[in-house]
Amino acid sequence: MPKKKGPTEQDVLHIIKNTQEEGILQSELWKRIEADSREGSRTILRLEKKGLIERRKELHDGRWTYRILARHRFSRIDSIKDVPCAFCDLEAKCSQSALQNPTKCEKLTKWLETMAEGIVKA
Ligand code: SF4
Repeated sequence: MPKKKGPTEQDVLHIIKNTQEEGILQSELWKRIEADSREGSRTILRLEKKGLIERRKELHDGRWTYRILARHRFSRIDSIKDVPCAFCDLEAKCSQSALQNPTKCEKLTKWLETMAEGIVKA
């Protein structure tokens, strides 16, 4: 019988991201992805190595375990709600080929730098 193909790292990351600030206990995650702890841990360690998630040690029902949280706050919709382009009078004229374009925009560059600082500190 062929071995069942497990979830991809992307699937697992998607589940973790959907738990938002709360995160998910690893035992709950193993159930959701239908993986045993060995298989699940391997995936989690790969995601952690890439800096996409973090594990926080937590006492749960008298046992130490890990809560897993996504690290990329930038991908959440509320993190881009104040992107300057959304409120810019030049937005209609701004494009890669125009005189006014995102690669030369000081407002956008400053905003991206602020976002990047937030990610590094997180
Ligand atoms: S890149 Fe700059 S100029 Fe272009 S729409 Fe965004 S804020 Fe406006």
